[in-house]
This record gives sequence, structure tokens and C-alpha cells, in this order.
Amino acid sequence: AKVAGKNCHRSYNRAMDHAVERRVHMEHELRGAWERGELRLVYQPIYRTSDRQMVGVEVLLRWQHPALGAIPPSVFIEVAEQSGLIEVIGPKVLRAACLDAIQWPMPPGAVPLFVSVNVSPRQLRSGEMADTVARCLRESGLPPSRLHLELTETAVIGDEMLAASLLDKLHRMGVKVWLDDFGTGFSGLSHLRQVPVDGVKIDKSFVADLQRDPDDLALTTAIIAMAHSLGITVVAEGIEHEVQYQLLRDRKCDLGQGYWFSRPVSSMDLVRMLGGMA
Ligand code: C2E
Ligand code: CA
Ligand code: CA
Ligand code: CA
Repeated sequence: AKVAGKNCHRSYNRAMDHAVERRVHMEHELRGAWERGELRLVYQPIYRTSDRQMVGVEVLLRWQHPALGAIPPSVFIEVAEQSGLIEVIGPKVLRAACLDAIQWPMPPGAVPLFVSVNVSPRQLRSGEMADTVARCLRESGLPPSRLHLELTETAVIGDEMLAASLLDKLHRMGVKVWLDDFGTGFSGLSHLRQVPVDGVKIDKSFVADLQRDPDDLALTTAIIAMAHSLGITVVAEGIEHEVQYQLLRDRKCDLGQGYWFSRPVSSMDLVRMLGGMA
């Protein structure tokens, strides 16, 4: 039994080593990925629920590695966050998205699209966000009103002062800020007082079985009412079925995003969807 235990321990260590090795390898590969053209941006349309008019998009990063294949953002964003690489990649994404957005035609009979960019906790803490945003707006010529930033609830928790001071700077520039994955943290309500965001994005885990789970529907309804009483916008993400859309629209959720409306698309395809020249 002793021997078996020892072997077991050893293979466990080996498995751990393997996971660490893979991570180190991935970090190494990610380091030059932007320069090698392996990273690209896709844009997922966001719609006004009342009339299904496209009003903006969220930019999402994709990594296609020649040997490892397509690596999900849930995996490589985590590696970028842990290693600090996000502080290099994040600003590149922001800049590229602003440069893309300035090229998009206006949707017929509407205002120009906004582009919403994810900001990781590490970027928030770097203290350089406001300068990076100002530089990207200046270099692209994108009007600040067309840029939104998405901060996660978990990034804000514990760093309310930092988040609030960044928000203040961004608001003075004219950039809007949304709280992402709203509802997954524990104390969303109290944070809205300390960190006065312009909107909340209801996490897709709430939307997933809105039509089946009365608790999820009740929570979502409450979030919408609460947000509106504070005068802030509500976005629902992960809408995959028409019935989810209808439930959200009937409850006056302002904006919606999800596969039922559209998958994330390239900038070129977005231009085509808008009926312009690609
Ligand atoms: P997120 O910010 O919550 O982004 C929404 C995710 O939901 C995206 O996953 C999107 O493709 C997916 N999604 C959209 N519609 C639906 C739907 O109807 N059903 C389902 N099941 N999923 C839907 P994605 O692209 O895999 O990104 C995962 C996460 O990676 C993002 O979650 C975000 O936290 C992070 N991420 C992606 N791009 C960036 C980036 O440029 N910077 C940072 N900091 N994080 C990023
Ligand atoms: Ca997001
Ligand atoms: Ca989200
Ligand atoms: Ca549920």
C-alpha cells in the first residue's frame, strides 16, 4: 500500500508538472501571438430590445494558434491576466477596436454604433487605463460617446476607490462604463452606490434558463427594476432563444446580446450587416 501511495503521489506530481508546463508554454506562445497575427478581434452586435435595432457591439478576442488550434478566451485571457501580458494585449485590443469602429457605416436611421471593450482586473489596477483610453481615442478619432468599457464585478470588489476614480476620469472624457457579469458577485447592489456605472450586463447564467427557472426570472426582473430606479441601462447577454428575448423585452430590459440575435463576427462582416461596403 505504501508503494502504491508513493507512485500515486509521484504521478500526481507529474500531472501537476504537466499542467504547469502547458501553462508556461502557452504564456510563451501568447507573448508573440499579436505580432504573428494569431490574435484577431470579433464583434458581437448588441440590440435595443424595444425595436431590435443594432446599437453597438462588444469586442471579443480570438486566438488561433498554428499548432494548438483555437484556444478559448476563457483559457488564454486567464493566462494573460496571471502573467501580466494582458497589460500589453489589452491596450492593443482597445486601439484596434477604436480604429475598426471609426470605419463602420451608420446603421440605417440610427446613431453610430458604440464599441464595448472588456477591461481585465489587472488593467484596472495598472493605473494606466485612463491614459490608454485617451490615447486610443486621440489616435483613432473615435468620439468618446462611442466607446464603452466593461469592468467585471470581481475587478471592482476590493478596489472600489480605484474603480471610482477611473470612472470619474472616464466620465469626464465622455466614455461610458458597464458592470459586466452582473449578479454573479455577492453584493452587486452596494457596489452600484460606490461605483456609479452607466449600465449593468446581466450575466448569461441568469438568462440561460429564464423561461424555465422562476427564480432566475424573478432575479432578472428585480435587477432591471433596481437598475432603472438608479437611472442606469440594463443589458442582457447570452440570449439564445426568442422566448428569452420576449421575456426580457416585456420587462423593459434595454439592450440584448446573444446567439439568437447574432454570433460575434469580423469587422468586415459587420460592415456587410450594416449594408455598407466591406
Ligand atoms: P464576457 O465578457 O462575458 O463575454 C461574453 C461571452 O459570451 C463571449 O464568450 C461570447 O462569445 C459569449 N456569448 C455571446 N452570446 C452568447 C450566447 O447566446 N450564448 C452563450 N452561451 N454564450 C454567448 P468568449 O468570446 O468566449 O469570451 C469569454 C470571456 O473572455 C469574456 O466573457 C471575457 O471575460 C473574456 N474576454 C474575451 N475577449 C476579451 C478581451 O479582449 N479582453 C478581456 N479582458 N477579456 C476578454
Ligand atoms: Ca463582457
Ligand atoms: Ca459577461
Ligand atoms: Ca438557474
